[in-house]
Amino acid sequence: MSNEDHFSSLYRILVEAEDLLSGTERSHLPYEARVSSMNERGWDVSEGAAAVPGGTAHRESAAAPAQPGSLDAPSPSEPAPSPAHQPEASHAAPSIDDSLAPAERRRRLEAIAEQIRTCQACPLAMGRTNAVPGEGALDAMVMIVGEGPGYHEDQQGSPFVGKAGRYLDKWLEAIGITREESAFIANIVKCRPPNNRDPKPEESEVCSPYLKQQIALVRPRMIVTVGRISTRILTGSTQGITRIHGTFFRYEGIPLVPTFHPSAVLRNPAYRRPVWEDLKKVRNWLIDNAGHHPESTSE
Ligand code: SF4
Repeated sequence: MSNEDHFSSLYRILVEAEDLLSGTERSHLPYEARVSSMNERGWDVSEGAAAVPGGTAHRESAAAPAQPGSLDAPSPSEPAPSPAHQPEASHAAPSIDDSLAPAERRRRLEAIAEQIRTCQACPLAMGRTNAVPGEGALDAMVMIVGEGPGYHEDQQGSPFVGKAGRYLDKWLEAIGITREESAFIANIVKCRPPNNRDPKPEESEVCSPYLKQQIALVRPRMIVTVGRISTRILTGSTQGITRIHGTFFRYEGIPLVPTFHPSAVLRNPAYRRPVWEDLKKVRNWLIDNAGHHPESTSE
């Protein structure tokens, strides 16, 4: 695919994302009018910006990662987890065990998901319809980490399935990634906070070992935290998301880029352009360092 074709493909994806945001249909407009419309709304749809996939400068931070719990998950021959199971309280970092076969990693992920579904370790358990463990691919190109389930996620038991989830799918599509094949999506807390409030620090603290175990088993090429809470938990940074979005951190050696939460972008159009800039950094890093070929999935 030529750069021009690739730009056109990315552009189409962003028009669709814009239509999702605004609820309007602009695809009938002439090309120039649609580019102008996009740029007026904060997307940087200059051909050069979208057509040059690599070489974007980035800085990496040595921010200390948060401390995960144990990687060990019960084997099928071990007793089933207690209904009152609590996540591993140890703050020892989970080592990424390269000797684990994919089938064993998948089995452990499923065991963790079962623990989460019966977990009673914090008060959020009382208000949930379904726990939302997270789901996706082993060795995902990108692991998306949000803060917690919302209404639709709570109803369905799957992450990012409402309007914000459909918008997130467009983000992934824009960087040539499909949720099913190349992403893993999870949250800091696995049960919905009442009225979609932010998770309390103590809730995040008690639940986050589940996520850290999942990261160690999934082994994503890159982590993208969406919103300030998941960013704070995984980077240790207390800076606001508006200051550190797009900055490269590392979590257990895995590159991590924070950006805004899709729900926040849907509420505030001013965040669209910075998100697009962050997505370009993610896409460029994956192309340069992870063998990512977005043209194979962005058509
Ligand atoms: S939010 Fe996490 S720690 Fe709290 S009950 Fe749900 S799974 Fe357990």
